[in-house]
Amino acid sequence: MNIDTTQACSVVVAGGGPVGAATALSLADRGYVVTLVDRSRPQPGPSAFGMDIRNVALSPRSAELLRQIDSWPEQAATYRKMCVWEERGTSRLTFDAASAGRSELGWLVEVTPLLARLWQRLDEHSNITLVFGSVTDVATTDQRVTLSLDQDGETTTLDTDFLIASDGAKSAVRDALQVEARRWPTGQMAVTTVVRTERAHDATAWQRFLLDGPLALLPSTDPHLCSIVWSQSERQATQCLTLSDSEFCLALTRASETCLGTILEAAPRQAFPLNQQLATAVNPHRRVLLLGDALRVVHPLAGLGVNLGFEDLHELLAIAKPNVDLCRLGLWDKFARQRLLRSEIMLRSLDGLKRLYGNPNPWVGWLRNTGVGWFGRRRWLQRKAIEEATGLRHLSG
Ligand SMILES: Cc1cc2nc3c(=O)[nH]c(=O)nc-3n(C[C@H](O)[C@H](O)[C@H](O)COP(=O)(O)OP(=O)(O)OC[C@H]3O[C@@H](n4cnc5c(N)ncnc54)[C@H](O)[C@@H]3O)c2cc1C
Repeated sequence: MNIDTTQACSVVVAGGGPVGAATALSLADRGYVVTLVDRSRPQPGPSAFGMDIRNVALSPRSAELLRQIDSWPEQAATYRKMCVWEERGTSRLTFDAASAGRSELGWLVEVTPLLARLWQRLDEHSNITLVFGSVTDVATTDQRVTLSLDQDGETTTLDTDFLIASDGAKSAVRDALQVEARRWPTGQMAVTTVVRTERAHDATAWQRFLLDGPLALLPSTDPHLCSIVWSQSERQATQCLTLSDSEFCLALTRASETCLGTILEAAPRQAFPLNQQLATAVNPHRRVLLLGDALRVVHPLAGLGVNLGFEDLHELLAIAKPNVDLCRLGLWDKFARQRLLRSEIMLRSLDGLKRLYGNPNPWVGWLRNTGVGWFGRRRWLQRKAIEEATGLRHLSG
């Protein structure tokens, strides 16, 4: 491939989380001169039992993207099955990678090693400059974008041809450009931790829909350690944080219906408020794009957040071929429409799923149960659902 870095336009990526770091690396590989701005290098998250408490489920499509930029972390735990059931129902759904002709549905990846690998690659890349500072303002003209940065209390500016905002849910770029974000508060918080279980997880992601919110037990590389994402009403979640370790283990053993036997030990718990949101513009100026959580934030019940951000990047790379003028008028119009539509569909589907499973009406429960039973008997439909959820339909292998 003939890459001319002197002709390629300069790009600033604001935010070096998983989406921003992968974006910077992908564009730098294509010859763009990239500056990545973040407040600091990623800090290691809280850990217990030798693993990070923060985990993300990555789809095969996301894995492919990370491998392309040589950023796949070694500690990934494969999951081959997903088992979904509910508090009130008798039907249970099991998704099996084998039924989609694959050896895995995806991977559970600890956030600290994932970011460490991405940042190691950022440090090594000759087309990437790292700048540390907090974005406080953004000004745009037809010719340039200028970012104001707070660097240790001093305000500095940074000019670029093109700005990609991947600075997360509270995006300063989005706010500076006065792009509104529509918000759907869920009234829930996610309690997360790592637990040791009596029975082995069998490379299975377990998810039980409780009336108060979904509980996920996600496998790790150790057969008896699972990360927990337990979405609950704010009141319940706050109470959950006050339980002693043994009370928490007991509550979790009950809530998980002993799917992995007794919960033996739990690491310290954390709780995150869960809000879904969607920016009203993807490309608010011809020189600016929003990606990842800066564009939309989804409920973690389907483990889609980073995967949707990587999907944004996949679609971006279909346009940002080497030597393309990223600032060309109209270049991002179709991309912007498609990403907004895709985000809206995902947000509404997840909201619908949350409401459906949170509805205590016995008739709704009967309908859910009948529907799940019907779905469970249709292999082809399950295969389609797996392909859609994991991004497999976009992969050739
Ligand atoms: C409980 C929970 C469980 C989850 N589980 C999953 C899962 O299983 N699978 C999945 O795909 N997703 C999951 N997610 C979602 C996932 O964590 C996010 O979607 C993902 O982190 C978004 O990545 P990002 O790079 O867009 O933003 P972030 O990870 O938020 O990164 C933003 C970056 O921007 C930097 N930044 C912010 N503001 C500024 C500023 N003003 N100036 C400079 N830099 C700035 C930050 O320092 C950070 O490095 C989960 C989320 C939660 C809360």
